[in-house]
Amino acid sequence: MALESCTDIPVTEVPVLKERGQREVFCGLTGIVWLHRKMQDAFFLVVGSRTCAHLIQSAAGVMIFAEPRFGTAILGERDLAGLADANEELDRVVDQLLNRRPDIGTLFLVGSCPSEVIKLDLSKAAERLNQRFFPKVRILNYSGSGIETTFTQGEDACLGSMVPVLPSGGAEPSLMVVGSLADVVEDQFKRLFDQLGIGPVYFFPPRRAANLPPVGTGTKILLAQPFLGETVRALIGRGATLLPSPYPLGVEGTTVWLEKAAKAWNIDKEHFQKVIGPAAARAKIGLERYRSALAGRKLFLFPDSQLEIPLARFLARECGMELVEVGTPYIDKLLIESELGLLPAGTFLSEGQDVERQLDRCRLARPDMTICGLGLANPLEAEGMTTKWSIELVFSPIQGYDQASDLAELFARPLERRKRLSV
Ligand code: SF4
Repeated sequence: MALESCTDIPVTEVPVLKERGQREVFCGLTGIVWLHRKMQDAFFLVVGSRTCAHLIQSAAGVMIFAEPRFGTAILGERDLAGLADANEELDRVVDQLLNRRPDIGTLFLVGSCPSEVIKLDLSKAAERLNQRFFPKVRILNYSGSGIETTFTQGEDACLGSMVPVLPSGGAEPSLMVVGSLADVVEDQFKRLFDQLGIGPVYFFPPRRAANLPPVGTGTKILLAQPFLGETVRALIGRGATLLPSPYPLGVEGTTVWLEKAAKAWNIDKEHFQKVIGPAAARAKIGLERYRSALAGRKLFLFPDSQLEIPLARFLARECGMELVEVGTPYIDKLLIESELGLLPAGTFLSEGQDVERQLDRCRLARPDMTICGLGLANPLEAEGMTTKWSIELVFSPIQGYDQASDLAELFARPLERRKRLSV
């Protein structure tokens, strides 16, 4: 891996096909699925309809042994028709919930399409309820509604709602890693930062919502996820500085990501190489196993999770896949510019979606692997194409050195399976 050459690549003006047609997306409520697992003392109360409740329950699965940490306050017909006071109903549900669940430290009121249609002001509701329950329970609100967004924007909205209540960190230097990571990945990064001599390091979101990280002019942000534009801008608004970087997917992405922090902490190159060298070498060997299954295979990415560009960069540069089209819901240069220059020259990049036209392009190209949302995967599989659900990548630990080969395997496995089936 050529660390120097990769960071020195100039950001090119990549031509982008912009499409604004029909889209196939999930709404931001989906973020609750991984956020409730991450923040163990938080509860997510969706204020919505039965449709919202079904979405969350089917996406998160039913927890049999544990008390769930998400639920839906269902707006009935009387609420929707304006015949009942939805605020009173909401207060009653929150009362019941908090009486029954003393383990809840932070309660998120999550807005939905129905709550927005009846103009239920959840920020006012949170203010009112905080007067009664804070400091024992902090009540925050954000919106998970909308099909004009990507499902990962639910995390952005959730973290964004926490930024105003983060304690002030002043000019004290610290590193804040922003974006949900699996605990195991977080621990690996923490060890590497410790060995490098970088700290204090805070992860946002924290494992307990009550342990909010401080933010101030000394805070340097490293983004772990490429869909947190609102959160980053709010953190910058509180004085923090973003360290622009590719994302920690694959050996190359992880190395450059760590290197950005190392540079900000003036860690000398030799020490950096000594610390990351063994893990990077191990990861490279692990990747080799899957490279032969992936190299030269054609890849088509539909816009869904917002992870598409970093993923495409990893699968092209480290696994040798050929990119047919890299679709992404939207391009936020603040978040993704460092990645754009790493895509192979001539990559066909599309932003937004006109699903029928994109399906036509996909069928015409007959890629070996298609990464797409759940709604498109089954029809494409029925047409004989191999697909991977992009949502799975948000739920899986895929960042960092120790996960690089697991990430490659996620794509190699279905290709191998299809090869065996077709023999
Ligand atoms: S928030 Fe809107 S898009 Fe999401 S499940 Fe509820 S009604 Fe559907």
